[in-house]
Amino acid sequence: MKAHEGMYIAGAWRPAAGEDVLEVVNPADEQVIAHVPAGTAEDVDAAVRAARAALPAWAATPPAERAARLAALRDALAARKDEIAETVTAELGSPPAFSQAVHVGLPILVAGSYAELAASHPFEEKVGHSVVHQEPIGVVGAITPWNYPLHQIVAKVAPALAAGCTVVLKPAEDTPLTARLFAEAVHEAGVPAGVFNLVTGLGPVAGQALAEHEGVDLVSFTGSTAVGRRIGATAGAAVKKVALELGGKSANVILPSADLVKAVNVGVANVMSNSGQTCSAWTRMLVHRERYEEAVELAAAAAAKYGDRIGPVVNARQRDRVRGYIDKGLEEGARLVVGGTEPPVARGYFVRPTVFADVTPGMTIAQEEIFGPVLSILAYEDEDDAVRIANGTVYGLAGAVWAADDAEAAAFARRLDTGQVDINGGRFNPSAPFGGYKQSGVGRELGAHGLAEYLQTKSLQFQER
Ligand code: NAD
Repeated sequence: MKAHEGMYIAGAWRPAAGEDVLEVVNPADEQVIAHVPAGTAEDVDAAVRAARAALPAWAATPPAERAARLAALRDALAARKDEIAETVTAELGSPPAFSQAVHVGLPILVAGSYAELAASHPFEEKVGHSVVHQEPIGVVGAITPWNYPLHQIVAKVAPALAAGCTVVLKPAEDTPLTARLFAEAVHEAGVPAGVFNLVTGLGPVAGQALAEHEGVDLVSFTGSTAVGRRIGATAGAAVKKVALELGGKSANVILPSADLVKAVNVGVANVMSNSGQTCSAWTRMLVHRERYEEAVELAAAAAAKYGDRIGPVVNARQRDRVRGYIDKGLEEGARLVVGGTEPPVARGYFVRPTVFADVTPGMTIAQEEIFGPVLSILAYEDEDDAVRIANGTVYGLAGAVWAADDAEAAAFARRLDTGQVDINGGRFNPSAPFGGYKQSGVGRELGAHGLAEYLQTKSLQFQER
């Protein structure tokens, strides 16, 4: 077991203010694999001061130089990709191939996309007799979840640095080791001291201190709607900018003309990926009444094949929460076709891939985010009914539509109250804006839209000549 020391503040690993530590547990075998310091308000204060001190010089650094540091960061992450993938597997439980391809591959792409954007973004534009400057918002407090530990960090830190902001990161308590590797990569990339700072610790202690700190100009949070609501309220009271990426309950709508086999198989794979711990997962499959039983059979077969190929969920609390939802589904009359609460193995926080049929829109499992490998299949009568069901939750993060042609699917997608929709299996695009309608959040991440979250505008009016 490894004891990691210190917080990364002002360009160096410094001793934590307190003595408390967090245990890092491997969810596949329940063994403690490391300890990291549990930060306090004092650590957060030191980190925010460092970020504030570094702000003027970094904000004034030419975008081309910021782009060069981001390109170096991308390369430093790429050079450590095996170590990062192994670390994600150890602390999150993700299967090694998925860690390599997604948990490390995606953030490298995102870091690269911001190296390009920092170099090419027009930070200045002419509007009539005005020149509008896009300036960094200031010090960013970034609070991230464990489900995609590196991606969630890079999706905030890379655009913030591209914009000229400085950052204090408080990563999730379950996955602090990946965050420490990220800090090492930032250091290797030659990012100036204080531009990026890391404080590990508990949400209600270090996270809350960061969200409440008056030296923070923007709080960028990804996590649960419950915590996001509190952070939004705190930021609102301080008249501080806030970006929130919260939960989801996305619909995968299979229109009657669709290739049912493909739509169901891709849909099941989407839900089982990362053991269901993806906020944008299509956890509700909507199928026309006439093809419903056929879809249920296909989904059951597809999910059964996953059997022992999915990893555990992140911790015991999450496993119990997911099992609680499976019990609730049974209690409310849904039909369990695959999976259930029975543990598949004796040790590790595993949940069996689970599929429910005969789910109705009002059921708890059709409304609340489960964040585990559980799919609900619902029947609709016609297109209007499908739109009503798809839009009938408090969330609006993602979704999918399948039809015989893209135009038909896209026309339906335009009726969905959600931030992104995959058309006939369209691939995730790391440069397209990602974020929620309704209670799924405020603001957007990724690409140029993600960069805009970290910029504020200043208009200079000149005399008209
Ligand atoms: P969480 O809200 O419990 O924790 C997220 C982060 O907030 C962690 O770093 C945690 O330490 C911190 N935190 C907790 N309490 C805090 C407080 N009082 N003040 C400040 N910070 C606090 O969520 P989680 O369990 O880590 O993640 C799962 C949730 O995140 C799911 O609901 C999921 O949908 C959501 N999520 C959303 C997105 C998205 O992009 N919309 C992405 C990933 C996860």
